Amino acid sequence: MIDLKKADAAQVTFLNDAYQHNKVAHAYLFVDPIQEAGIATAYWLACRFLCSGENKPDGTCNNCQRILSGNHPDVFLVKLDGKQSLSIDQIRPLKAELAKSPIEGSRRFFIIENAEKLTLAANNALLNLLEEPVAPVVTILVTNNENQILPTVRSRTQILHFEEEVQNNRAVELLEYGLNSNEIAELTNSEKIEQETKYFYQEIKEKDNLALVRAHHLAETNSTAEQKFIFFILKKLALAELQKDTTRLAATKLLDLLMQCDQMRASNVSFRNCLDYLVLKY
Ligand SMILES: [Zn+2]
Repeated sequence: MIDLKKADAAQVTFLNDAYQHNKVAHAYLFVDPIQEAGIATAYWLACRFLCSGENKPDGTCNNCQRILSGNHPDVFLVKLDGKQSLSIDQIRPLKAELAKSPIEGSRRFFIIENAEKLTLAANNALLNLLEEPVAPVVTILVTNNENQILPTVRSRTQILHFEEEVQNNRAVELLEYGLNSNEIAELTNSEKIEQETKYFYQEIKEKDNLALVRAHHLAETNSTAEQKFIFFILKKLALAELQKDTTRLAATKLLDLLMQCDQMRASNVSFRNCLDYLVLKY
């Protein structure tokens, strides 16, 4: 069962706008490093067209349920199913479907997951499909690697970039903050560290005893990049709080302290001592 909640909010806004202005493209390339949001967004679009509820797409009406569970006659999914590549035999049935008109709705949807795994023959069959003019079909290729899609296929699609851009924004932010590109590349575990740093921040603010335990756990890293990243996140959280009037004073105090502790870190005070000082001083 596909979960519509996993659809990407920004892309959903964009596609909804296209839908309302009758400008939905006949072929899309969703570039999504993890593909989960890409697939959910593709299904969101199918539900947007075919939903029979009032708030389209509701995800709960009979049509949406059939689409999301893979049982709607107008929505096709091509995927690896444990194989190494997507073969021409998986694309051919789509071509046969093109000859028919939609069974229930106004449009049919061909969704291709892991499009980077299409064989050359499958790509060529797909190309034919994308060249067929009149059929009311939306083909959505979802891939984690735009560069592995044949340029001739790519050029026939409208390309939407998922999450990757968010990651790029973060990279830009980190560069501006003062990490160099080697250090940014070193942050392979940043999501986990970020989550733990958020807990840590919360514990400091609540003067929770667990803050010291967390500090010692965070202090286990010897990577300068990770240490910088931890302070980057802490300051970001404090800065965000500065925007809110009610907590302004406390956030100012905490931010001052964070600056001080980060300076200690930069002047080679041990990372553990920096974090201890932060917890105890606040
Ligand atoms: Zn529905």
